[in-house]
Amino acid sequence: MELLLTKRFSIPDAFRIEVYRETGGYRSLQKALQMRPEEVIEEVKKANLRGRGGAGFPAGVKWSFLPKEKKMPVYLCVNADEGEPGTFKDRYIMLKDPHLLIEGIVISSYAIGASKAFIYVRGEFLDCIDTLERAVKEAHREGIIGEKVMGSSFSLDIAIHRGAGAYICGEETALIESLEGKKGRPRLKPPFPAQKGLYQCPTIVNNVETIACVPYIVERGGEWFANLGTEKNGGTKLYAVSGHVKRPGVYELPMGTALREIIYEHAGGIIDDLRLKAVIPGGSSSPVLTPDEIDVKMDFDSLARIGSMLGSGAVIVISEKACMVKTLYVLARFYAHESCGQCTPCRNGTSWMEKIIKRVEDGKGRKEDIDLLLDICDNIKGKTVCPLGDAAVMPVESFIKKFREEFEAHIAFKGCTVSYEREGVLNV
Ligand code: SF4
Repeated sequence: MELLLTKRFSIPDAFRIEVYRETGGYRSLQKALQMRPEEVIEEVKKANLRGRGGAGFPAGVKWSFLPKEKKMPVYLCVNADEGEPGTFKDRYIMLKDPHLLIEGIVISSYAIGASKAFIYVRGEFLDCIDTLERAVKEAHREGIIGEKVMGSSFSLDIAIHRGAGAYICGEETALIESLEGKKGRPRLKPPFPAQKGLYQCPTIVNNVETIACVPYIVERGGEWFANLGTEKNGGTKLYAVSGHVKRPGVYELPMGTALREIIYEHAGGIIDDLRLKAVIPGGSSSPVLTPDEIDVKMDFDSLARIGSMLGSGAVIVISEKACMVKTLYVLARFYAHESCGQCTPCRNGTSWMEKIIKRVEDGKGRKEDIDLLLDICDNIKGKTVCPLGDAAVMPVESFIKKFREEFEAHIAFKGCTVSYEREGVLNV
């Protein structure tokens, strides 16, 4: 398979503009500037490019939600606040091929009529920020951004904004609040950002990987891109594989590659040839799968059909040695810590779930704790301002549904009886 997003990862100095140009970079931008903005949007729609940040919403459709009459400035915000446990793909695009992202930003901004774009980068990604800043300077120097991009009548400025370590700022409206200098707390929707976003102006928020696909769509056409994947899921996908595999890493594969192939062929199988116990297929919030479910195609629709999610494409592999109660505790602690506290079900429910799972893990659980956890889930699900509430609930519900006997054993025998080691796969 031809690599797209990772094709320059093995080229030394690919982050420099000269190397990017020598390897075909910025030709798509030149082509896009000869097209009308609506034609670029049409190609992105045809490409079936679904948002790679987790929600999977078609990018071209999102762009067409912008008001037709341009009464206010339009902004593009690139979501580079990659912070979900298990997700580590966008950082490689920023580090290894920053000009691919910049080219995608300039083309996307041209298509939606934005003259200012922001890259909201996770604050801890110091090396990504350095690399991006250098790349933006190079692009300015060569007339790729700034006044009259490549001699056209289109102008664009790109600002890099460093986040301050809050996972919730990966949610698009919290990201916008944070960019405005406020606390990163999600807004109620509607209005959606395409109507009222940054500074109450129409705004598109797209993930790094999504934007990095755009130059290829312009270069070879939406139909070509769509045909790389499955129906309604175009292109290739970066799958970040971690946990108990022999070769953890980021793998670029066609959208819809079977989960079994990702784990056993690309990531080398389970360490020490242990048995597979479970897989979290799409980042920490996606419902867990059991070994009999791994023939699923890794695309948004196939995973939804079996009750899980592709999310960000972060595959966390769990071997027979891991304790599912401890693993769930690590996840529950993360969501309790990252709840912004704005709504009561999430603020109180996530920390309550964390405490209950901890006591089960410690061997101090009560018989009724399992049903109590499910009851708390019911009181969070669908009752919060943003999706973090649901994200905290999905692992709890799915772990209990598929591994209930481990929770019951922890309670009955006052501690862990199922793991060979006392190490959870997500131990931190
Ligand atoms: Fe904040 Fe949680 Fe409510 Fe989202 S669901 S707004 S993170 S309290």
